[in-house]
Amino acid sequence: MINLLIAEDDRVTKKIIEKTMKECGYNVFCAADGEEAYRILENNNIQIAILDWMLPGIEGIELSRRIRSDKEKNYTYIILLTAKKNQADMIDGFSAGVDDYITKPFNTHDLKARIKTGERIIELQSQLIESQNRLREQATHDGLTKLLNRNAILEIIEVEYARALRNEIPMGMIMIDIDHFKRINDTYGHQTGDDILQEVALRLKNGIRPYDSIGRYGGEEFLIVLPNCSMNEIYKVAERLRLQISGEKFRTRTKLINASISMGVLVAQYPFDKPLDSLINVIDKALYEAKGNGRNCWVSVMPSDNNNIGGENAGKFSFANKQVN
Ligand code: GH3
Ligand code: MG
Ligand code: MG
Ligand code: MG
Repeated sequence: MINLLIAEDDRVTKKIIEKTMKECGYNVFCAADGEEAYRILENNNIQIAILDWMLPGIEGIELSRRIRSDKEKNYTYIILLTAKKNQADMIDGFSAGVDDYITKPFNTHDLKARIKTGERIIELQSQLIESQNRLREQATHDGLTKLLNRNAILEIIEVEYARALRNEIPMGMIMIDIDHFKRINDTYGHQTGDDILQEVALRLKNGIRPYDSIGRYGGEEFLIVLPNCSMNEIYKVAERLRLQISGEKFRTRTKLINASISMGVLVAQYPFDKPLDSLINVIDKALYEAKGNGRNCWVSVMPSDNNNIGGENAGKFSFANKQVN
């Protein structure tokens, strides 16, 4: 239902408009002065506003300016009511962001017809927002798993890394790869493989904290970022994820199938003097080690030797803190 505001200090005029608008099926709000109208506009999603030019307190034209200056809110279609008829006044109204103009006295059929125009604009606006949201979703998410895509998760990691540096807090990352996934595809078919990918994504997503982010990093690889996560916490998360995948068979379109994951786990401790690239590199190596250790396990690394490691020296990261599980 469309929310419609009538800001009119003349009681008779207000009554007529209110009755007409209620007949049209709108959810009607009324204000008798500018301040009240502004409060209603602030606290409600008003889609159509009929504003009297001459109002006690804030005048209609000023209300219109304020509505237009708030870019965060959805579009409000504004009709200004006025007794003024001369050209110069109308120009003022339109430059204040008014969409339409009705001069008093008016007839209710005219008003209804103009409101219908407003409704069409509002409808177009909401279609536009919907399609923008759809495009944004498509640009940042993976179609199969519905997780963030590679670019989106990398962007989030960049932001979190900068935040961790600013706030002097640690940041965790987990890189995950499904074990022997090629074999699953070869044995049961690609579609069954897709079923497992979707279910793995779901179980991983359910296994992390609300403020962690997960994305599909590659074909059957996932990347998780865990802001402000200690070593002990991240070990618990990794172990929980491992069990969530290997602990229960996967129900696919063909049959129940066992699957497992291997993980590289890393906590970057403040101060960070390593570029993000090299962290990704080192976590990749940890994942590779986990594969070498027989899969269905995780290997953690802590980037050490803070002083002399640059981007091209990622290979020098020490595995001294390696923990195999
Ligand atoms: P490992 O345990 O060493 O990781 O073995 P693996 O077989 O999982 O590793 P590999 O990288 O050789 O194979 C990954 C496979 O994942 C190959 C590719 O066909 C499959 N894959 C990648 N993306 C998709 C997808 O979207 N759907 C399906 N069904 N398979 C995918
Ligand atoms: Mg008035
Ligand atoms: Mg892989
Ligand atoms: Mg794999």
